[in-house]
Amino acid sequence: LERFDVDRVRKDFPILTRTVNGKPLVYLDNGATTQKPRQVIDAIVNYYTQLNSNVHRGVHHLSQLATDAFEVTRRKLQPFINATHEHEIILTKGTTESINLVASCYGKAFVNTGDELIISAMEHHSNIVPWQILCEERGAILHVVPVNDAGELDMETYRSLLNERTKMVAMTYVSNALGTINPVKEIVALAHAVGAPVLLDAAQAIQHIAIDVQALDVDFLAFSGHKMYGPTGVGVLYGKEKWLNAMPPYQSGGEMIKEVTFAKTTYNELPFKFEAGTPNIEAGICLTHALDYITELGLDNIASYEYDLLKYATSQLLEIPGLRLVGTAKEKSSVISFLLDGVHPYDVGVILDKLGIAVRTGHHCTQPLMDRFNIPGTVRASIAMYNTREEMDILVAAVRRAATMLL
Ligand code: PMP
Repeated sequence: LERFDVDRVRKDFPILTRTVNGKPLVYLDNGATTQKPRQVIDAIVNYYTQLNSNVHRGVHHLSQLATDAFEVTRRKLQPFINATHEHEIILTKGTTESINLVASCYGKAFVNTGDELIISAMEHHSNIVPWQILCEERGAILHVVPVNDAGELDMETYRSLLNERTKMVAMTYVSNALGTINPVKEIVALAHAVGAPVLLDAAQAIQHIAIDVQALDVDFLAFSGHKMYGPTGVGVLYGKEKWLNAMPPYQSGGEMIKEVTFAKTTYNELPFKFEAGTPNIEAGICLTHALDYITELGLDNIASYEYDLLKYATSQLLEIPGLRLVGTAKEKSSVISFLLDGVHPYDVGVILDKLGIAVRTGHHCTQPLMDRFNIPGTVRASIAMYNTREEMDILVAAVRRAATMLL
């Protein structure tokens, strides 16, 4: 196996050569969104200069080309996550919409008064609020699995919460705020033992960990194109055929129908039943190029390269007096969240920005998790495959400088 060639990878990402505040950009906000390789950027230009047309409609040449290109993405997503059927891949606008779709449609079909749903204390707001709303609407009960001081799920409590009234378990694969990798196979097996389906929020996993939905036996999987080197405005909902067929449509209008009369409308088959209206055609088509890019490098190669960076940067940061790591799970991916004693994360972020380093500061859309740790937020450096050891050194030196100034 070849060594992971980060120099070659970096050459594909034009934005990485720019400067910020007079310094070379060090982009460590990959948890928020990733940068795009030239292959994706070129595909966007090519789409508008050669293909632009609506999909699934016209008999004319361009519409056929655009439809074929759009459907190539779906066809490639199937083996990418090892879905059984291509029609189990619903294209949405992102993780948020994918989760909302399930909460809304699965909720209508399967959740009733007194039923119970389970989430965890480390969920992103987009995997909390849709379930809260569903519970309010249906008179159902939302249970939350706590996390320990390391930021790991309390599996004992999870076991004790599961019962025959459990109608859904919705959890993140990788925590966007802490980097914790959850034991998803075990989570799914335990839920299935009481007959409950599982939705995995894979927004922070899909670009770092090879996912096989059949091996995990997961019922729903949600992720976003823009966090996996693809365009903004497209995301994926994988769902097992048996659930998707049993769920009513999400939005209604064009595309999702078979036949419309004023007496009765019948719905289109999967996946189109859940894809009302003109989709984000450009993003849908160009996601293919991000999939190709990742597939060519190999997710296992990407994962081991990134893990090396994570370990290296973590150990270097821990040498800084007054620095506290938030999230010390045994199984971690790509995220380093930390605080300097008594310093607001925002102040650290401002200093890093002056030095050309992009990190995220704040609650990372996980307010309940920050409350659990009694902190207002963290400074989060999140790693992608184009980051380097040199960039980790720049980060560590900058945090050391911030600590000298602020502590
Ligand atoms: N879940 C997790 C774990 C995330 O990190 C994010 C994005 N920060 C989302 C859901 C929401 O993704 P999007 O904004 O692309 O819908």
